[in-house]
Amino acid sequence: MGTTETCDIAIIGAGPSGAVSAALLAEKGWSVRVFERQHFPRFSIGESMLCQTMQLLEDVGLYEDIAAAGFQYKDGAAFAWGDRYTDIYFPNKSAPGQGTTFQVRREIFDDVLIGAARKRGAQVSFGDSVIAFSSDAAGAVLTVRDERGAEKEVRARFCLDGSGFGRILPRLLNLEQSSTFDKRRSVFRHVYDHADNTSFDRNKILVTINPDAPQIWYWMIPLADGLTSVGVVGPDADIEAAGANAEERLDTLLPRAALMHRVLAKAESARPAGEIIGFSANVKSLSGPSYALLGNAAEFLDPVFSSGVTIAMKSAVLAAGLVDRQLRGEAVDWETEFAAELKVGVEAFRACVAAWYDGSLQRIIFDRPMEDAKMTAYLTSVLAGYAWDKSNPFVREPTRTLRLIHGFCAQE
Ligand SMILES: Cc1cc2nc3c(=O)[nH]c(=O)nc-3n(C[C@H](O)[C@H](O)[C@H](O)COP(=O)(O)OP(=O)(O)OC[C@H]3O[C@@H](n4cnc5c(N)ncnc54)[C@H](O)[C@@H]3O)c2cc1C
Repeated sequence: MGTTETCDIAIIGAGPSGAVSAALLAEKGWSVRVFERQHFPRFSIGESMLCQTMQLLEDVGLYEDIAAAGFQYKDGAAFAWGDRYTDIYFPNKSAPGQGTTFQVRREIFDDVLIGAARKRGAQVSFGDSVIAFSSDAAGAVLTVRDERGAEKEVRARFCLDGSGFGRILPRLLNLEQSSTFDKRRSVFRHVYDHADNTSFDRNKILVTINPDAPQIWYWMIPLADGLTSVGVVGPDADIEAAGANAEERLDTLLPRAALMHRVLAKAESARPAGEIIGFSANVKSLSGPSYALLGNAAEFLDPVFSSGVTIAMKSAVLAAGLVDRQLRGEAVDWETEFAAELKVGVEAFRACVAAWYDGSLQRIIFDRPMEDAKMTAYLTSVLAGYAWDKSNPFVREPTRTLRLIHGFCAQE
């Protein structure tokens, strides 16, 4: 082992959760070290943002950095299923707060956020992987390995794990727990869309349900500069069987998304297809002595309602406030003030994801059986990311409310 460094807070990973927590804690005057395995800007999937994300960024003073970056404006989500088409317009949500958002190239979005954290005083190093960890009530000890193989010890008063699908602390501390969702696979690529902008709504993500197999769905997320992100998600075995590799699978499956296929008729590939298998994951506990888990390092549900970055940021904002208090000597109950609080929104999204795959939310979105306009506004609100607004019945009792509304859908 080489040198030993000390800091107040060590953060693993410079994705949205790591960057936002680093910015907030550095601004409070703490010495913050962020260790990021890759070099930025780096590609990441997950380009569709929710309005709640922008509100969180505004609340913590980071929105202007994102608004200035020239991303594609977004005001809702459109859905296609065979010949049927409908959309959800985010400004019609019930909750207060931002009503629009962006569709972003994540290599730029993530880079802007970690840049903002550096400007606020966080020290960030790239090409540094966290490979070992221990902690007790007095603090945490991390082993960090650089790209030449040199290792150092980092002693921190607190550690936040924002390592995303790296899931470093869940792996090292045996916190992994399987998700209740089935194993799914996603294949995706970026294209130069060469799309005629009058033939579709560029300001919305388009989610298409496969007409033969409603468990399979597609996204089309228009980005700035003529780029579009396209992808498909479905049961692992079905997607695997669609071709010998990711490119083939995507090419076989895309024509079943008719509107999207038409819009992208002249599209050219802008980057090779990527693939992620078995992305849904969970943990036994979100915190322990002198550490807490953020974003995907804790739990990832499913891409369908674009909740990933919103949950990542909500966890970062909550955790940063609690770490600040704890390091100032206040008692913090991580179970009630962090895990239970984060869970409010996670459970609302979990119910929506479960209802999407059992088909009931697909029916609700297309049939809109809610007679009361307020109920549509409540559903819009959750889909815009306002999943922590306890005045919303889809937040207070998500499963029961979804079942109730589904009961009003026309019988097939
Ligand atoms: C198919 C698919 C589509 C998605 N689409 C969307 C979408 O449209 N909208 C949305 O909001 N979300 C989407 N998501 C989810 C979203 O991308 C993630 O939820 C989000 O990136 C989580 O942020 P994070 O900060 O937790 O982790 P990440 O963004 O994954 O960042 C983690 C960082 O940690 C670094 N790291 C990992 N291991 C180590 C280590 N040992 N040491 C140091 N650094 C390390 C990584 O290099 C990475 O930069 C999608 C996910 C999938 C699978």
